[in-house]
Amino acid sequence: MGALILKPGREKSLLRRHPWIFSGAIERAEGEPAAGGTVDLLSSNGEFLARAAYSPHSQIRARVWTFTDEPVDNDFFRKRIHSAIAARSPFLLAEGPAVKSTDAVRLIYAESDGIPGLIVDRYADTLVLQSLTAGSEVWKETIADLLIEATGLKDIYERSDADVRELEGLQSRTGVLRGAIADSQVTIHEHGLKFLVNIAEGHKTGFYLDQRLNRQSVRELARGRDVLDCFCYTGGFMLNALAGEAKSVVGVDSSAGALALARQNVLLNGYPEKSVSFLEGDVFQLLRKFRDENRSFDMIILDPPKFAPTAAQAEKASRGYKDINLLAFKLLRPGGVLVTFSCSGGVDAALFQKIVAGAALDAGAEAQILGHLSQAADHPVSLYFPEAAYLKGLVCRKTL
Ligand code: SAH
Repeated sequence: MGALILKPGREKSLLRRHPWIFSGAIERAEGEPAAGGTVDLLSSNGEFLARAAYSPHSQIRARVWTFTDEPVDNDFFRKRIHSAIAARSPFLLAEGPAVKSTDAVRLIYAESDGIPGLIVDRYADTLVLQSLTAGSEVWKETIADLLIEATGLKDIYERSDADVRELEGLQSRTGVLRGAIADSQVTIHEHGLKFLVNIAEGHKTGFYLDQRLNRQSVRELARGRDVLDCFCYTGGFMLNALAGEAKSVVGVDSSAGALALARQNVLLNGYPEKSVSFLEGDVFQLLRKFRDENRSFDMIILDPPKFAPTAAQAEKASRGYKDINLLAFKLLRPGGVLVTFSCSGGVDAALFQKIVAGAALDAGAEAQILGHLSQAADHPVSLYFPEAAYLKGLVCRKTL
């Protein structure tokens, strides 16, 4: 096994159990480790600190598998996978009775479950696996077998097509990994609603599982309201607004494919087509158009794509968030509710709240926070890896 020897003093983050080692912290490599191979991380005076996967092409040069001097082998991954899956049931039950009925759950969330680079989502009887790093790539086939063993399911679809793979020197790969998946459209159940999920072409692994609890919040607040769902994707929030007896629901997205699936989801749940309207277009422009037309709503949902993957893009991202939130505050009637999100890792919850406050101020609105939202419990955050907390949201009420 190869080893990476750290520069003096650079073991500090590992002693706090943060699982990443950046290239600048490494003095030298010993033993010519292969990409994704297991290496020991040693302090400058040779002490064992952790065992990790080597990523020679990435600035994140190693990701820790374990801080214990133990083998990283099939049994190691079997234990991690079983522990991750076992953690899902009690947490999901704690989210409330409605969630018990869901069959779409994130089973493995990378660093937070001690398996950096690996995401596994369950959509009904199909697993969707995403391998993002050289380390997870080396163990992918073993992990696929262990997932079949742990879940009793047969089918795994691979969605290793995220851009971050490039940083690891990995090509994109999608397709059937285990079993025979004839149809890439899977029907899932959540909170008594059904959703079609396209596991081959949908965003991420197909559906925004992280918003599960927040869909429930929207449902609870929607009654009697005229709802505008911006960045609606396949209609997750729209369907919940309908289930919560909204008066009207408008969904906006720039993707025709997403809107087509959203429309199918409306019909699949027995709502008449005329209960919603869809607008294909750019939210930034559409909100301006609505402002110029004096349109108004009682509830606006803003769930844009990631504007700032890292802190370096935070400033530009802040302008984007401010823009849409300001326009939304203008379009809201007094008593209206804004449900606004950021999934940017580079914008933390405190900064996001500041941006939303600035937007309200510039819109001339009085507003209060009714609730803070975040990712569902099947996307846990390791206490040692705060970067795993990426989704934050606010429920704001415009009072005047
Ligand atoms: N709210 C959704 C997820 C939103 S993901 C859910 O809970 O399922 C972000 C969505 O924004 C994507 O569907 C993408 O197609 C869309 N999008 C990205 N940029 C956009 C823009 N400028 N205007 C409108 N839609 C946009």
